[in-house]
Amino acid sequence: MNQFQTPPEEILARLQQLRNADAPTHGGHVLSYVYDSGLAEIDELAASAIRMVQPVNGLDPTTFSSVAVMEHEVLGFVRSLLHGDTEVVGSVTTGGTESCLLAVKTARDNWRARGGTGRPRLLAPTTVHAAFHKAAHYLDLELDLVPVDPTTGTLDAAALAARMAPEVALVVVSAPSYPFAALDPVAEVAAEALARGIDCHVDACIGGLVLPFWGTLPDWDFRVAGVTSMSADLHKFGYAPKGASVLLQRGRDRQRTQYFATTQWPGYPVVNPTMLGSKSAGALAASWAIVEALGEPGFAKLARSCALSTLALIEVIGDIEGLRIVGTPVGPLLAVATDESVPAERRVDPHHWADQVRGAGWLLQLQPGLAQSDGTHLPHTTHLTITPVTESVLADLSAALVGAADAVRGIPAVSPAEVLASLPDLGGGGALDSTSAFELLTALGLGGDGVLPDRMAPLLAIMEALPAPLTERLLTELLARLVEPR
Ligand SMILES: *Cc1c(COP(=O)(O)O)cnc(C)c1O
Repeated sequence: MNQFQTPPEEILARLQQLRNADAPTHGGHVLSYVYDSGLAEIDELAASAIRMVQPVNGLDPTTFSSVAVMEHEVLGFVRSLLHGDTEVVGSVTTGGTESCLLAVKTARDNWRARGGTGRPRLLAPTTVHAAFHKAAHYLDLELDLVPVDPTTGTLDAAALAARMAPEVALVVVSAPSYPFAALDPVAEVAAEALARGIDCHVDACIGGLVLPFWGTLPDWDFRVAGVTSMSADLHKFGYAPKGASVLLQRGRDRQRTQYFATTQWPGYPVVNPTMLGSKSAGALAASWAIVEALGEPGFAKLARSCALSTLALIEVIGDIEGLRIVGTPVGPLLAVATDESVPAERRVDPHHWADQVRGAGWLLQLQPGLAQSDGTHLPHTTHLTITPVTESVLADLSAALVGAADAVRGIPAVSPAEVLASLPDLGGGGALDSTSAFELLTALGLGGDGVLPDRMAPLLAIMEALPAPLTERLLTELLARLVEPR
């Protein structure tokens, strides 16, 4: 193949080298971001499906009819899991964020169609996923965040209902929330929303394909009359490669507002249910193949494995002196905070703990603390997402969690005040240009090649200590520099 300037073997060898530097996507050592079914055949099947649709343009299901068939079959499967009736319709999107954005766009436009004027509001607990901050930002809604219980991370439905008003275009609750795995009081919130004619979205991005198999729970899906839309990610507990999520909406007429259509240009008629134009059918095909292969029994079996491992880890971590599980996790995820009820010298800081666990080869996710609008403070925590593969590493993981806690017990959390004092002069933190932002990053030891430090606890403390807009600006600079052509 002399048209290649570099031989394919060489290109793929380089890619392999690059991939070797990535966090491991399989084997259960990364407890966030990746959702490993532990079934190699499922990954192989997904890869084959992607290959078969590689040249397809998912933009046009009339030209590529396979796309329409796979999409309605996947939607049918998820609708049935979430107890939607025949009035529930939907779309496969490219991910949770897109599903959430479209749920907000739909609600906003329906609110306007009902006569809403001015700036619409999005009402949600502080634990709502950041995708809704993004949606409010992109779509110009005011974000009204209701504080949750600072110890358990749970939402008081009455507190949320008290903020419902004619300007509220959408209420969002989670099943469960990402930061603390709290199952929001869906039925209570949705009933209040329904009584006021406000749309209610249940963000089941992480729980949608696993909570249906999680034993007895209060109703959290389309069984609840006031729930108008739901999101569920195929690329999380649907075990599909990234790029697939489902957005379901109650009522065809409501859902049509999600679409964008125009014939008013000289090109082909554009009719898009989702954000993208031309798009891959790969993740859809992979999701479809996995749904066909596993069916409900397969998903149920994988969920049982997640549940077993989650229970085991709750027990192990619950027994670690100085740490506590936040609230009552519902689903295969949990957050760990310092147990303030023991003396300081017996406490374990969850961020030091995560750093220590990382040294032993396990990647947990550090979550910053957060001040809520009522003055209460959500603790900084460490997050674990549990997947079916976790079962195969449970003993080693448990030992690492216990050993790491023993190693850092009594070491106080990095103090934001001390971190601040040690920082170079931030010049008031006003609007930074990219040069000064980069200088600041360099002064913080982060200006280099984007490789994060071995210890993340100090970095998280900096994030907590600095004003959010400044941290956001610095992180933007960090990520932007990472992909600058050199
Ligand atoms: C993951 C997640 C999202 C966002 O999904 P992406 O697929 O990362 O875009 C939204 N809500 C919840 C609860 C999530 O867990």
